[in-house]
Amino acid sequence: MPQPKYLTGDTAAIEEFLSRFDVFLFDCDGVLWSGDHLFPNVPETIEMLRKKGKQLVFVTNNSTKSRADYKKKFDKLGIPAEVEEVFGSSYSAAVYIARILKLPAPKNKVFVLGESGVEQELDAEGVLYIGGTDAAFRRDIEPEDFTNLANGSALDPDVGVVLTGLDFHLNYLKMATAFQYLQRGAVYLATNIDSTLPNAHSLFPGAGASGAGLTKAIGKEPLSLGKPSQAMMDAVEGKFQFDRSRACMIGDRLNTDIQFGIDGKLGGTLAVLTGVSKKEEFLAEDAPTKPMAYVNSLGDLLM
Ligand code: PLP
Ligand code: CA
Repeated sequence: MPQPKYLTGDTAAIEEFLSRFDVFLFDCDGVLWSGDHLFPNVPETIEMLRKKGKQLVFVTNNSTKSRADYKKKFDKLGIPAEVEEVFGSSYSAAVYIARILKLPAPKNKVFVLGESGVEQELDAEGVLYIGGTDAAFRRDIEPEDFTNLANGSALDPDVGVVLTGLDFHLNYLKMATAFQYLQRGAVYLATNIDSTLPNAHSLFPGAGASGAGLTKAIGKEPLSLGKPSQAMMDAVEGKFQFDRSRACMIGDRLNTDIQFGIDGKLGGTLAVLTGVSKKEEFLAEDAPTKPMAYVNSLGDLLM
């Protein structure tokens, strides 16, 4: 496998690299910002790419926020973007459920393990759901819950899908309820299965970790609608209609972003060193995932 090309400071190489693509898919956290800290020259770089006529899509695995939440974040940080350019894993899951899975009513309701970002996107796609942020599920499990879950009286007969995302209020009652639906044949989906997420200069358990207890109990993996799953790539391509050979994925994480671009047979992948993965990980001879090129930081592309 060819070694990734280092582009920082090499204007001619950057120009040539950018000219190969019409579409740039951006990961968000670790590329544009870290938490609430905007990386240098990001708005200017985005503006430059727009002036060159590039199509931009912001693809994030963060399911706790909706596209509307993300638009607010872009505005706050001064990054020029439209809500329609944002493609989050909660939106990806909602689109998959509403437009691809299309379970026949009434057995098309979703039991959600996740935050309001998931609920907002399900609402936007007209998908019915229970669980989520509902206070009725944010409590300790009681002895009678075991009985009522086992005999089905605490279950909604219309639930045909269990959708897990990062759930900051994960508890045994929700896990046990989701498990009952899965045992009764519900389709098992995840917004994303990232093992960790970056927050406040450290890593914390991610959506894959918060859903892992349920996966262990049921003994099968969910279909993930986040990077690197190609279900998400298909949904992105379905919405934005582009030539994959003229598209480039930009990300900070090898096993999600860069793998997403490689598996999707995009024309290029570009790693930035402002996030989770370190260059030693992809420069190693036997590295399983290598980007086509890398820069220290997204703003290094600014010309
Ligand atoms: N999931 C959550 C809950 C997050 O907070 C983040 C980053 O902030 C991510 C996933 C990773 O997001 P991205 O795909 O934009 O790097
Ligand atoms: Ca990232």
